[in-house]
Amino acid sequence: TGALLPGEQPHTIECRDVEFQYGDGAEFALRGLNLTIRPGERIAVAGENGSGKTTFIKLLCRLYDAAAGEILLDGKNIRDYDQAEYQKLFSVVFQDFQIFSLPLGENVAASAAVDGAKARACLEQVGFGLRCEKLPHGLETYLYRDCSEDGVEISGGEAQKLALARALYKDAPFIILDEPTAALDPIAEFALYSRFNELVGDKTAIYISHRLSSCRFCDKVAVFERGRLTQFGTHEELVRDEQGKYFALWNAQAKYYV
Ligand code: ADP
Repeated sequence: TGALLPGEQPHTIECRDVEFQYGDGAEFALRGLNLTIRPGERIAVAGENGSGKTTFIKLLCRLYDAAAGEILLDGKNIRDYDQAEYQKLFSVVFQDFQIFSLPLGENVAASAAVDGAKARACLEQVGFGLRCEKLPHGLETYLYRDCSEDGVEISGGEAQKLALARALYKDAPFIILDEPTAALDPIAEFALYSRFNELVGDKTAIYISHRLSSCRFCDKVAVFERGRLTQFGTHEELVRDEQGKYFALWNAQAKYYV
């Protein structure tokens, strides 16, 4: 450990025969995982509940170590990088992200030190710019009323936008998004994520897609079934494979997007 990260080069991640189980004797949450994510790719991760999507993300971010096999960043095992340095590469929005009873700007910066221009730009990008301008104290406006009498309440959809703004503000080479299942209606969700996907620019983006909303604009879809990666291809390829899991998942949800 302690080795320096490669400089500004675009990063490739490769999983080789990765396995993971939550505790001895537990079922394998992931097994036999082989997958390469190239710089700038957009990957949607799909599969039923409990299929291993979140576990995969947690291993990539090194919240857990693989029990077997290895994950390589630019050809080197991720365990051989300094953990804190490695984790700086990832900007992650989990479903249970928190918005705090703190000023708006601090929520976006995830810090008390706020670059105002940058925070405003990120809010603008996620469609919160006008709302921010109209707030009584702009970026210094407290969210919620717990800590300030003139704090403002925000909706679930707005909280989601703030979480996205926070991810953009961090400006890491990998953006990972665990899409919400409830805060937005499916059409608004599709609009927000396709826009976000453009904002991500040349970063690598990985979306855990519960309602498959991002699968259509991603380069590839990774489909997990009971801990195994069973399909990996474009939306168009997978949706034509009538024997595959993706076909069934997609058709079960297509009604949302008609
Ligand atoms: P998904 O994100 O696709 O819903 P997960 O990766 O969360 O799936 O879960 C994969 C498997 O691992 C499931 O069988 C789940 O019950 C199990 N699992 C997930 N998290 C834990 C945990 N913290 N402790 C024990 N088992 C877990």
